[in-house]
Order: sequence, then structure tokens, then C-alpha cells
Amino acid sequence: AASVGVNKLTIVEAYAVLEADGLIQSRPGAGYFVSNTVSSPQWRSHFAPTQKVTISETGETFCEQIMATLQAQQQKDIINFSSGFPLTQESANFQRIAKRAIANSTDTLFRYDLPQGQLVLRQQIAQMLLNQGLEVSPEEIIVTNGSEQGLSLAMRYYLQPGDWVIVETPTYHGALGILANLGVKVIGIPMTAEGMNLELLEQYLCSHRPKLIYTISTLHNPTGITTSQTHRQKLLALAQQYECPILEDNAYEALNFESEPVAAPIKALDRSDIVTYISTFSKTLMPGLRVGYTVVTGKHYQPILEQKILQDLHSSTVSQAIVSEFLAGGHYRRYLNRLRTNHLHSRNAMLQALERYFPAQASWTIPQGGLFLWVHLPEGISVQAICREALSRKILVASGTAFFPNHQGYPALRLNFSNSLADIDRGVAVLGELVQKYLVA
Ligand code: PMP
Repeated sequence: AASVGVNKLTIVEAYAVLEADGLIQSRPGAGYFVSNTVSSPQWRSHFAPTQKVTISETGETFCEQIMATLQAQQQKDIINFSSGFPLTQESANFQRIAKRAIANSTDTLFRYDLPQGQLVLRQQIAQMLLNQGLEVSPEEIIVTNGSEQGLSLAMRYYLQPGDWVIVETPTYHGALGILANLGVKVIGIPMTAEGMNLELLEQYLCSHRPKLIYTISTLHNPTGITTSQTHRQKLLALAQQYECPILEDNAYEALNFESEPVAAPIKALDRSDIVTYISTFSKTLMPGLRVGYTVVTGKHYQPILEQKILQDLHSSTVSQAIVSEFLAGGHYRRYLNRLRTNHLHSRNAMLQALERYFPAQASWTIPQGGLFLWVHLPEGISVQAICREALSRKILVASGTAFFPNHQGYPALRLNFSNSLADIDRGVAVLGELVQKYLVA
């Protein structure tokens, strides 16, 4: 056999390079072995940046925290006060509707569909929005994978790394996660009973020239506040004056305890295509369907639709067909009435349980809809310890800190009340006990 002369040092160096790249591993006394996992730091560094922003209490990133919550939810017998989902006992009804939806749409199920979503569904959404005081055409709607995707599409379109963006404080932590990932700088404007503090907003619009205002205008997550009509007008006027687009998130609109719309969306007042509006069926039907929608008008429509094409081509046709079937024939309106009644009972039960089990130093909101109570605890209490111990007793709760852009620790709990009356009583009793314990500690 022909032999090739290679300097021994070259081989040693080559092995060192392979080892540094994580492709081989040395085992002293045994030689070199091909690695099971290819995961050296250099190799990884070529890929998308991981999130650097961490929640101060736990040191976790947003995604780690979401993963932990979703994982914990899988446990049997867990009481989930942590995420927002509808309280419905209608799985038989759902099954019937889903079956019918699939039977009626066999022609569309075996091909790709439109990126903006099925026309029938967009027509139905347009009709629903009209009932809420927002007149748009189906051509101004994009069906998305939950409203989370709507947030992501719009934020990617409006923002560049380093830009300033305005959010309410507290605000939906999922939006904060996307913003952190985009590398933008976030300004938090405190909520008042009427909506975000507009004096502060104007100061920041003037001094920082932000590129986007993110607002949850109706039944805000987590405070439950609905931005008043006059506030909506002023907010829009300010945004127009400073040429700053608004992203209006209306995920909870359908969940007001009154069946009449609480207030027309800010988008309904918009004559200059400055507002992008998003909402979802996750909070009313099933979060797992992942059907949300974005309303975007004028020149902004096409680029946001292109983002959608690049991300996932289109949303699930099966999910869209199920939602569409639900919206047909008045099911949805009747269903929402039943849902609101369930939620109102649960909210009342949670308020009673808080009165009964929580110490006098705690206080909470009384929302007129949505899914959450926002519970303020005394300054200095370890919310992290309460959440951790609650989880060990199979109660999942969200710490207030997650809802602030600086993630610096905030003494509050966000509790989802859409649970059974028995779970509410049992879960709030445990939480009350823990709050007492850590007050004294
Ligand atoms: N916006 C707000 C305010 C929310 O609370 C949520 C869900 N918690 C979402 C958007 C996203 O929900 P989905 O993607 O399921 O529509």
C-alpha cells in the first residue's frame, strides 16, 4: 500500500481542531471518538442568536419560561392559573362541528391554500368586526397562526434592531418576548384606569421617536382595563402627530361580560392606515387551533402578507374550516353567550376565594371580562418562592415580573379565572396560605 508522509504534529493539530469543533472527543488512555452530539460553542454560534433578556427572579429567558409553563401544564391534576384559555364544557359540540367542517371541505384539504387565509373565513371575520364597529374588507385581513404570529409579523415589519418601541406596563409577556428577540429597546408606559398614561406617552414620542406603540385596548392583559373612548381618540391623534404606527391587540374583545361591544377598536377611527389590528379565536374557541387574524390596510398589507408567506405559507386549512363552520349559522354568538356566563361565575368564585384566603395586604382588580385577575402583593415579598412552592403543590401561576419589560421583579400574581369552581377554591386556598407564609418570612 502506498504510504503518505504526514508530520505527526499536523495530525495532532487536526485532532485538536476537530475536538474544538465538537466533532470528536478524546478519552484519556483510549484514544479519540466521534462525538454523539455536534454542539461545540463555535458551531452553534453560526445560528440565530438566542435571547439574552432574562427574567430577574429566575434568570430564565422568556422562551425558557414559556417552555417550563407549557411543560408543567402537561402534568395530571395540575390547576392552571397561569395561561389564558376558554372555560367550555362543549367538547361534543366541537367534535360535531369539526367533523362537519372536514366533511364540507374535502376539496381544499388536499392542496395548499391562500396565504391570507380562506375567503369564506375572512368574509365571516369581516362581518364579525363590523358588529364590533370596525368596517374592513376581507382583502384587508390576513389569517395567522394565532395572534402571536400576527404580533410577530407586524413587529418584524415595523421594527429594526435598536429601534425604540412603546408598550403599556404591565403588558402581555408574549409580546415582550418577540420584542426582545428583535433586539429593539422597549419603553414601558404605566397603565391608568383609562388606558396608558398619555402625558408620558407624548414625552417619549417627542424625545425618543419610537417606531411602534403596542396597546391591548380592550380588557387588557393582565390588568383587565379597557382603554376609554376619549383616550383611544387621543392616543390615535398623538400617534398621527408623531407618525408612529400603532399595533392594537384585541385578543380579549369577545370576552366582555356584557354581550355588547365595550368600545369600537382604535382601528375603527384610523383614516391613515396607521393602526394594525390583531385578534384571535384562541381565547374563545381553542388555542390549539392556532387561528388568529390581522387587519392591515393600505400599503402595509402586501409586505406583511409577504412576511406570512416567508414564515409558513399559510395557516392550517383544517383549523380554518373548523372556525368557519363555528362562525356559520349563529353558533358562535350563542356559544359566546354561554362562555361569558361560565367566565362570570368563575370570576366571581375567584373574587370570593381571594376575599376568603388572601391577607388584607393584598389587593386585586375586578375585570369586566377577559380571563385574568391581577393580584398585587406587598412590596418585598418573594413572588418567585410563592410560584415555585405553588408548583410543587400542583398550582401553576404567573409571576407579575414577566409582564414588565425590565423584568426587575414586581410583587404581583396573574391568575386565570377560567377554571372549575372547585379548582378555584382549592388553588386560591393554597396560594393564600403561601402568601401568608412569605409575608411573615
Ligand atoms: N395577545 C394577547 C394579549 C394574549 O394574551 C395572547 C395569549 N395569551 C396572545 C396575543 C396570543 O394568543 P394566540 O397566539 O393564541 O392567539
